[in-house]
Amino acid sequence: MFRKILIANRGEIAARVIRTTRRLGIATVAVYSEADAKALHVTQADEAVHIGPAPAAESYLSGDKIIEAAKATGAEAIHPGYGFLSENPDFVDEVTAAGLVFIGPSAASIRAMGLKDAAKRLMEKAGVPVVPGYHGEDQGLVLLATKAREIGYPVLIKARAGGGGKGMRRVDDPDDFAEALSAARREAKAAFGDDRVLVEKYVEKPRHIEVQVFGDNFGNVVHLFERDCSAQRRHQKVIEEAPAPGMTDAMRAAMTGAAVKAAQAIKYSGAGTVEFIVDGSQGLSPDGFWFMEMNTRLQVEHPVTEMVTGIDLVEWQLRVAAGEKLPRAQEEIRFDGHAFEARIYAEDPAKGFLPATGTLHHLRFPAEGKAPRVETGVRAGNSISPFYDPLIAKLVVHGPDRPAALAALGQALIETEIAGSTTNLAFLSALAADPDFAAGDVDTGLIARKQNELTRTPAPDEQTIALAALAAADNRSEAPISDDPWSGFAAYSHFNPVARKVELSYGEMEFAASAMLLPGGRAEIRLDGHDRAFSFDLDQALRAAHWPGHITLFSPAGSCTFVVPNPFERVAEAVAGHEAIRAPMPGLVKLVRVGKGESVAKGQPLLVLEAMKMEHAIAAPHDAVVAEIVIEGAQVTDGTVLVRFEAAAGKGPT
Ligand code: ADP
Ligand code: ADP
Ligand code: MG
Repeated sequence: MFRKILIANRGEIAARVIRTTRRLGIATVAVYSEADAKALHVTQADEAVHIGPAPAAESYLSGDKIIEAAKATGAEAIHPGYGFLSENPDFVDEVTAAGLVFIGPSAASIRAMGLKDAAKRLMEKAGVPVVPGYHGEDQGLVLLATKAREIGYPVLIKARAGGGGKGMRRVDDPDDFAEALSAARREAKAAFGDDRVLVEKYVEKPRHIEVQVFGDNFGNVVHLFERDCSAQRRHQKVIEEAPAPGMTDAMRAAMTGAAVKAAQAIKYSGAGTVEFIVDGSQGLSPDGFWFMEMNTRLQVEHPVTEMVTGIDLVEWQLRVAAGEKLPRAQEEIRFDGHAFEARIYAEDPAKGFLPATGTLHHLRFPAEGKAPRVETGVRAGNSISPFYDPLIAKLVVHGPDRPAALAALGQALIETEIAGSTTNLAFLSALAADPDFAAGDVDTGLIARKQNELTRTPAPDEQTIALAALAAADNRSEAPISDDPWSGFAAYSHFNPVARKVELSYGEMEFAASAMLLPGGRAEIRLDGHDRAFSFDLDQALRAAHWPGHITLFSPAGSCTFVVPNPFERVAEAVAGHEAIRAPMPGLVKLVRVGKGESVAKGQPLLVLEAMKMEHAIAAPHDAVVAEIVIEGAQVTDGTVLVRFEAAAGKGPT
């Protein structure tokens, strides 16, 4: 076995690979771009090498730099993860030429499956059913349009070099063919530098069912059963599961047999996935599936297979690459129960699943050790940047059967808390709760058909607004994000009872409320313009996250983010790292909590200023020593210095 390997990837998959290497006692080298200097995989690896600026083309796709890093650190092998260089045969050749081992299939296997048209021709020869269609060399419009008519509409135009659902166009009407063709070509050219396409029969009520295969360098090939990845948006998977709902023994035997045949045809070694499109219109039948493509790498959704088979696929990859035989024979591979994986993305389902960016100010996953397995590459405070795939985490659950696993998935989604970026969490919850999905009646068009229902974001009700007001009453703006939303009230207890005015907005809607702390650990919220008062028990758990200018509430119905207008936030940001805090507007200093010469810790409340109907707690932006502070009761004007700190070494005064 290897002593040290380099992981040529980032995010959750790098962290995932590290977990197995650690268990096996293999040292790891991470590589990272400038954008990832603080990323999880960098801190988890034994060593880390900076390989360039944020754009992937100059870092994670730079084979030379990666090979150089492997040599410089004494790594013996390179794990490519998925995406990036994982299916690049030239990189495999370079790795091998440098005397290193590529943890994956041979360059020849990757080349054989790299282009969908050539792969289909090869599979046809090997006796694997392929989607009826045209996958020849001639790319003229007239010929392609003629082929499309022969195949019969609807057809699917596909980039032969395609991946990630790009360069694909469904065409229903011959009149639209020419335009769809140019669009697919443009997209393919831009994404893959290759505008050649194939035309396929568009399979009705299509289901995406794929088979995990594994080969070694001794000619052994096994399968690890199937995964169903029919829940897709924009041809990309969002929730995957194993086994496939409604799978019959006959269908499974036919599909896994075809997948093993496909892998054997290219002398496959390592982890691979053979993807099939299945006609789900009449239920599953052994003659109703066709080869789509083979992914010659570890797949994003590999954990569902691990959960049902109990096999660590990364361990198998390492063993096979190190020259060992497959650890188990086919008949020793069994599956048990049912598993789901949900991909949590920074994206906006309501805006066509447009990728989102942002800082993940608050991030909390379901407690480890319970049902869900969490695969993530980020920590609270990390950012989702526009440079890479906006995957935040994958939640993986296992249960004795599909309903139990689905219930566990729903629960895990509800317990997940993310604030700072728009995410698809509510959409995933809605999908997991969808009656058709629950019944296993899923085809690749389900999400698009139910898009409106699944992406609806209902406006918050009064109870939710009141809860947000309660949380906002404790929005000590400069303090670090508090995990205990009640903690701030203690600071005001001497007002007894204390009332605070708070303002909030949600989208276009604005709300004002007063929060009153009552004796006996209760709080009362009155929303302006409403008669009813909402009463809350402060001992009850409130799931809320404070982050700059916002409050996010979490509930079984999903999360709800309110904007909390607070001018001090901006000021605090501006003065962070400087040596004074100034009043952003006229106000009254109601309370001063520290004295001259006192050492204060970052986040410690210093004073309370009342301005614009609101009380604002001012906290220390960093550890410091107070040099000067205003007196209690002072009326201050815009720009008055409230606190001045002793100058820290290397920092000039404001
Ligand atoms: P699979 O389940 O087949 O691994 P994925 O959805 O993970 O399918 O995507 C396939 C590959 O395309 C992965 O290597 C992934 O990194 C990459 N990919 C995913 N989303 C995108 C995207 N939006 N643009 C380009 N590539 C993508
Ligand atoms: P990629 O390389 O982008 O993953 P695939 O060939 O695997 O491309 O197709 C991606 C998705 O597009 C499939 O999972 C399926 O949802 C849909 N799709 C592909 N081929 C067909 C087809 N012939 N009929 C219907 N849907 C298809
Ligand atoms: Mg695919």
